[in-house]
Amino acid sequence: MVVEKLSNEAPFEELMNSARLRLLQMHYEAKVGHIGGNISCLDAIMVLHHLIMSPEDRFILSKGHSAGALYIALWSLGKIEESDLKTFCKDDTLLPGHPSGSGIPGLMFSTGSLGHGPSLSAGLALAAKRVGSKRHIYCLCSDGEWQEGSCWEALIFAVHHRLDNLTILVDQNGLQGFGRTQDIVSYSDVGGRMAAFGANIQKVNGHDYRAVSGALMSGTVGRPNVVILDTVKGKDLHFEGDVSSHYLPLTEEQYLAGRRAIEGLGE
Ligand SMILES: [Mg+2]
Repeated sequence: MVVEKLSNEAPFEELMNSARLRLLQMHYEAKVGHIGGNISCLDAIMVLHHLIMSPEDRFILSKGHSAGALYIALWSLGKIEESDLKTFCKDDTLLPGHPSGSGIPGLMFSTGSLGHGPSLSAGLALAAKRVGSKRHIYCLCSDGEWQEGSCWEALIFAVHHRLDNLTILVDQNGLQGFGRTQDIVSYSDVGGRMAAFGANIQKVNGHDYRAVSGALMSGTVGRPNVVILDTVKGKDLHFEGDVSSHYLPLTEEQYLAGRRAIEGLGE
């Protein structure tokens, strides 16, 4: 099934460009920040939801501030209505700036308080194993999150319980809220450190959907899987790699320039 989907390359790339445009528009119209980190993980979220996950699988967005990318993926699957996107971050919306576990199809937990997704996901993976379910759990984290001890505790737990039905993706864009990750709390080679804890590690270009798909389709029996996504905050947009795209909303000029850049990708 996945191979068939991947062989049809043009439609997925067209789908990605339409997702980027709609994400940019939604953030601009809502006057909401976090666009940079949403762009950096949109490819992986779209790959997961369109090419990898089965209906019984579950996705935990540990970096809850990238809720927009998740909403766009669900919209592109027909699970969220266009009318819902127009209410993004407004009062009484189904779609707040960080995802709520009440009401959004397929979402089990409210997330956004960072460092909790890996533990929630490891618990789900253990529960699935104990009842003999084929369910696979996917958890998307930021790179800054791995400065939190709770993430490492979850990894210890997952390795101990041999949770090979758990895949943790790390959106390694090198930036976090207040600057470069290596300047905030320095750690080098997070993948190597996670391997030392006993996880199976793969590192791929997080903007290459074929590479991301390939990594997500492989794993090691008896070990949790980690896919380190080498990504760029605000990829292909004029604020590429700019930490201001973490918090600041888009101006009209920035939005229009972003649209032109994305539309140029399809030419
Ligand atoms: Mg980051």
